[in-house]
Amino acid sequence: MKILVVNAGSSSLKYQLIDMETEAVLAKGGVERIGLPGSLLKAKGNGKEKVYEKDMPNHKVAIELVLHALQDNEIGVIKSMDEIGAVGHRVVASGEYFKKTTLVTPEVLKTLEEKTFELAPLHNPAAATGLRACIEVMPKTPMALVFDTSFHATMPEKAYMFGIKYEDYKEYGVRKYGAHGTSHKFVSKEAAKYLGKKPEELKIVTCHLGNGSSISAVDGGKCVDTSMGFTPLDGVLMGTRSGCIDASAVEFLARKKGLNHADMVTYLNKQCGVAGISGVSSDFRDLDNGAKEGNARCALALDMFNYQTKKFVGAYAAAMGGLDCIVFTAGIGENSPGVREGVCEGLEFLGVQLDKAENAKRVDGIHEVSAKGSKVKVLVIPTNEELVIARETAELL
Ligand code: AMP
Repeated sequence: MKILVVNAGSSSLKYQLIDMETEAVLAKGGVERIGLPGSLLKAKGNGKEKVYEKDMPNHKVAIELVLHALQDNEIGVIKSMDEIGAVGHRVVASGEYFKKTTLVTPEVLKTLEEKTFELAPLHNPAAATGLRACIEVMPKTPMALVFDTSFHATMPEKAYMFGIKYEDYKEYGVRKYGAHGTSHKFVSKEAAKYLGKKPEELKIVTCHLGNGSSISAVDGGKCVDTSMGFTPLDGVLMGTRSGCIDASAVEFLARKKGLNHADMVTYLNKQCGVAGISGVSSDFRDLDNGAKEGNARCALALDMFNYQTKKFVGAYAAAMGGLDCIVFTAGIGENSPGVREGVCEGLEFLGVQLDKAENAKRVDGIHEVSAKGSKVKVLVIPTNEELVIARETAELL
């Protein structure tokens, strides 16, 4: 069976067509600037790339063009749309409404649209728009919703509750939901496979460090805690997100800066993090360069990021009562030896010993960067969220 994985943003739509027998990516691409002038689709298939420049006023036109590209004479990989067995849609937030991957029915669509938008106002409406467009264009094809939050549904109450009035948690669903669940799930399973152990035997801390960053405690194959909270703003500071901050400081800052609630949340999401600290960039490559050139604020941003990530690793080792493995993944986790070194430094007391020379190497696939005798294995594992979405969709069917 071939599964189409769709990740829709407010003005973008990324996709992959995956053959589930071999798990090979047959085609992939992305539409940019939906609803804006200059919209285009960059599509890959058959080892070739093609750019389609076309006015795409909405997601329906975009998905029609994607289906056209999948059947294109030159780069096409299927003869007819019927070859697509199902579509898996990435959805950021599920609230408490969906605990696992869910087949789309009119009822499910209604719940998605009526209940979850306010939990992820930037992401979930976009996913629903992409979903509606696919339903319109491929009405007979089964659709699945795969939630970033599902892997975190196993967190115990003591981990996901905030210290607010219990009645308010019940009434409004305000609690920790986490994010990047598909990635944490994928890399923790890959780590167990690599180490030749059953997931049940391992205590793993997975560090998904990218433009958005989250750290999870995975005990016996199940997530028991994670650093992102009610929304992906919580946890460590990120590219442009503040990470956790005292709620009173938020009110104080809003008053001083004359910002209303919505503007304050936008400020914390878009203007803070390492970009706000450095005043230079949200990209860790720029921070590395800045720090090397003696820019103290770039160095501070990196120090803060490493320090905060390290604190989560330590906290989660304590939460699980032990630690067998640390996994680094995503843009920064996979590509920044400096961050991996900065995070592991000082964790020797937990049995973490990094092989600095190995850590500095660039290796494709899974890369073990801990020293030979290290009690705690440190692994770099490339994430593959699309594959998890495709697997979950196939399993559901
Ligand atoms: P992601 O959100 O997983 O796509 O990660 C994107 C981020 O990864 C970028 O914003 C960069 O900060 C970071 N990144 C990518 N390549 C490198 C690299 N070679 N060294 C350090 N950071 C990198």
